[in-house]
Amino acid sequence: MSELNVVSISEAQIPAEPFEARHLIGGSWQESADGAVFERVSPSHGTVVTRACKGGLKDVDAAISAARETFDQGDWARASGKERSGFLLKVADLIDRERERIALLETLESGKPISQAKAEIEGASDLWRYAASLARTMHGESHNSLGSDMLGMVLKEPIGVVSIITPWNFPFLIVSQKLPFALAAGCTAVIKPSEMTPATTVILGELCQEAGIPDGVVNIVLGYGDPVGAAMTTDTRVDMVTFTGSTGVGKAIVKSAAQTLKKVSLELGGKNPQVIFPDADLESAVDAVVFGIYFNAGECCNSGSRIIVHEEIAEEFIQRTVDLSREVPFGDPLDPSTKVGAIITPEHQNKIDTYVREAVESGADVRLGGASLSVPGLTGHFYQPTVISNLKNDMPIVREEVFGPVLSVLTFKTLEEAIGLVNDAEYGLSAGVWSENVHTCLEFARRAQAGTVWTNTWMDGFPEMPFGGVKESGQGRELGKYGLDEFLEAKTVTMRIGRTRAPWVDPRDR
Ligand code: NDP
Repeated sequence: MSELNVVSISEAQIPAEPFEARHLIGGSWQESADGAVFERVSPSHGTVVTRACKGGLKDVDAAISAARETFDQGDWARASGKERSGFLLKVADLIDRERERIALLETLESGKPISQAKAEIEGASDLWRYAASLARTMHGESHNSLGSDMLGMVLKEPIGVVSIITPWNFPFLIVSQKLPFALAAGCTAVIKPSEMTPATTVILGELCQEAGIPDGVVNIVLGYGDPVGAAMTTDTRVDMVTFTGSTGVGKAIVKSAAQTLKKVSLELGGKNPQVIFPDADLESAVDAVVFGIYFNAGECCNSGSRIIVHEEIAEEFIQRTVDLSREVPFGDPLDPSTKVGAIITPEHQNKIDTYVREAVESGADVRLGGASLSVPGLTGHFYQPTVISNLKNDMPIVREEVFGPVLSVLTFKTLEEAIGLVNDAEYGLSAGVWSENVHTCLEFARRAQAGTVWTNTWMDGFPEMPFGGVKESGQGRELGKYGLDEFLEAKTVTMRIGRTRAPWVDPRDR
């Protein structure tokens, strides 16, 4: 489409041979027990990027055994914070060293722009450094106020063996929101990356080995949710599951983990609203709305996919959003100027399109896009920047996670009505407000049902700030000191000082 900013094929080099990915079990790189493999075809360039071993129950069993034995043996779990922090810092340096290689594979497997992939890898090494700082500074509590003859301590101990199951939208970043925090706590891990994006997790395994993290601490099994992911949630030797992905699979994991009462931490979907008041800095708001919906092609749990704009400015705001959307460079992810790349699979592209078609059939207006996008020279799947208005709050496109570059626009008259629309949702991951009035922003921040609220900004994140959702967006938190706490158990130690306790059996009764 000539009216959009479409970036066509770059000269960048695609590796001649696919990346070969194997399981990491107890420190050795292994084929699947049954020899099965699968291939990942690039969603943007149509070439085979990765040939990976396809794990089965035997491979999961071996990986969990390695993680369990390593944890129980105790050297890693009881290592000093200084020692564990040293390993994490080394991994961070190695990630920086390998940034270009990791970013290229991430782009080819996921279809995301190369510039964004590089920024994510940079963000990931920062997470490893931050987790290293937590490894050295974590501590429990002491209670010196229990009486003159008592002293209490709360020890923080690693929870044990952790199953880490990750999705395809930010493969390297999401594993880095989990693994270094688990390692900082002293846990051992079995990781399953999405079957669509296995390569960069395998590279991370190589870097953990190169940094000297002992064998069996980090294990990786490649393959599908069924049977690999499922077995990682039911095995009695696993103490905790941490998962990022769809709400449906999150609920299934809670059910299967309940059989053995494992701790489950979930980072799930969102239908995240941004509310725009008439007194907002509209130029910044339009830019943030465009960023919020097209970043990662909208395949993002934090996608700002639901705009709630004041009636007085709605028409102007929609028009400015449409105009700016046309300027966003969509196209070849290997071109450094591209800001929005390919959609992960043809099936997902169809799912996005179905939401749009159904909304149109129900009377919605397509203000921009609403169809696939062809990029000259590429065979992959791309979707146009899409803006939809004239919607009702009960339509699936407004309530469900479309996970594509599709913006839904609703309108409001009063703050009460806006907050009502924000909270009338199954999800509660993040929410945003745009107003120059601090009282409006604070009232919104306090009343919005969401794990994160942004005021006059969107999607800023920091390793120090916890991240997670309320309602059907998940349970538990990642990042910050809360992210470390997820991987720790509290143990109460109560001590009597001196022989001051009155005997329970009175000596006179003996
Ligand atoms: P899923 O939730 O199905 O996949 C996420 C991960 O879970 C993958 O590694 C997957 O394996 C694994 N998995 C699947 N089934 C099970 C199971 N029963 N037990 C344990 N692990 C399992 O996401 P999809 O890729 O299917 O995407 C579907 C939708 O999910 C998207 O359209 C989007 O709405 C949402 N989503 C949300 C994300 C977020 O960041 N919150 C991320 C990704 C998706 P496998 O390799 O077989 O896929």
